[in-house]
Amino acid sequence: MTTTPDFIADPAGRVPVACVADLVVVGGGPAGIAAAVAGARNGLSVALIERYPYLGGLASGGMVLVLDDMCNGAEISVRGICAELIDRLERLGLAVTPPAPDRRADWAMWRKWSRWGVFDFTSHSKPQPINYSTAFDPDGFKRVSNEIIADAKVTLRLHSWFSRAIVEGGRIRGVICESKEGRHAVLGSVVVDATGDLDVAASAGAPFVVGSYMVTTVFRLGGVDTAEAERFEYEEGDAFKALDREAKRILGGSWEKWWLKTPLPGVVWCNCPHMSDYDGLKVADLTRADFEGRKRIVALLEFVRARMPGFRDCFIVDVAPQLGIRQTRLLDGVYVMTKEDVVQRRYFSDAVARGRDYYYPYRAMLPRDVGQLLVAGRHYSATSAAQRISREIPPCMAMGEAAGVAAALALESGAALGEVDVRTLQRRLRAQGADPGDQPAANASLVEAAA
Ligand SMILES: Cc1cc2nc3c(=O)[nH]c(=O)nc-3n(C[C@H](O)[C@H](O)[C@H](O)COP(=O)(O)OP(=O)(O)OC[C@H]3O[C@@H](n4cnc5c(N)ncnc54)[C@H](O)[C@@H]3O)c2cc1C
Repeated sequence: MTTTPDFIADPAGRVPVACVADLVVVGGGPAGIAAAVAGARNGLSVALIERYPYLGGLASGGMVLVLDDMCNGAEISVRGICAELIDRLERLGLAVTPPAPDRRADWAMWRKWSRWGVFDFTSHSKPQPINYSTAFDPDGFKRVSNEIIADAKVTLRLHSWFSRAIVEGGRIRGVICESKEGRHAVLGSVVVDATGDLDVAASAGAPFVVGSYMVTTVFRLGGVDTAEAERFEYEEGDAFKALDREAKRILGGSWEKWWLKTPLPGVVWCNCPHMSDYDGLKVADLTRADFEGRKRIVALLEFVRARMPGFRDCFIVDVAPQLGIRQTRLLDGVYVMTKEDVVQRRYFSDAVARGRDYYYPYRAMLPRDVGQLLVAGRHYSATSAAQRISREIPPCMAMGEAAGVAAALALESGAALGEVDVRTLQRRLRAQGADPGDQPAANASLVEAAA
């Protein structure tokens, strides 16, 4: 039985303890939701801390509206809590996934599905294969996240901004948050950092590197006649290409398809513009990026209204409340994933999660130097180049799920997180519907023995 202190001592004065739990998860994005739910389902009391007034992180507040990187062509490689979330969204009519017979590479399927963004973005063949990916609605993501967290009986604390890790004797004991009520502490036996920017681990003194990647003010347009826009694209190819090129020039950088359909009729999401030279940790840069992004969006709006078939009556529905920061701090953990590990699909005997066809070793979630702390999500231990190609929402959820189960195993056995029996962790993940993957026969030569 844990005795709850009323206050903890802090250099800035006494801080009231708001909550004590077995597991404290900081960050209510995809990785944090999965970590909290997995921990609670494995018998832990769990507190989940989120700075914003909703769950979902970049998936909802960043309006990143396709769940991809969860299928390797032959099989679905991310299941578990991510699959449950998709089921719930589909039941609400707020998610669209191509049915199995449509998941193939041919021009008819490309025309039917590519504007949903549900294709294999890593493939160099034309047309790229339509695959198992899900386009979803951001508010739906918030709603089903609330449901899944409430069903698991997680203590959710929104509007709470993590500010400092409490570390004693080389291990983390909890965190301090800022809120409208002032500062408060949340104490736990294990802490999972799921902030995406490594706020907790960095504050706790874990080694990290600072990476960067392009930044995006994602936005949605409404009032789009998508049927007319697609007719123009496929039936007046040359005219379409010229206008599309101009739209991309105005945006100053985007993926090949700068607009994609959503489950809401006439509403498209725009995963653009691509903007570089912004530091996702600096207030001045974050502010500047908002101004620059909105300027480009308005310029694009004027152009497509005037010139692009299907867009004559369109309007801005919203610009994502969260700026699209893809990469900042990255853990320099017990193992650091490299681009080669990802591209060559290196299998690790301590693999606990995977993306489309690559594996995350448990050691890439373990910080050096700080006990009782795990890291899950886009700031996991990887080089900048590796993270760029292994940071999508479903694999971040798979990492989170593994972190929640690992925390439970550690507390059940009294082992330190670094001593958790990985075979038991893999078995339990499988038994609960997740799929950390098996050693593939084809690349047995790339197997790396766990330390
Ligand atoms: C523009 C853009 C487009 C993308 N496109 C796709 C795509 O099409 N498909 C795809 O699958 N992935 C895509 N991604 C990648 C994906 O969105 C992220 O990598 C993924 O959301 C990471 O999940 P996470 O839980 O690790 O982090 P995040 O989603 O960043 O969640 C972190 C959470 O922690 C909270 N938090 C942070 N700091 C604190 C703090 N100090 N105190 C309290 N709470 C805190 C945040 O508010 C947030 O809720 C895209 C990313 C961007 C930016």
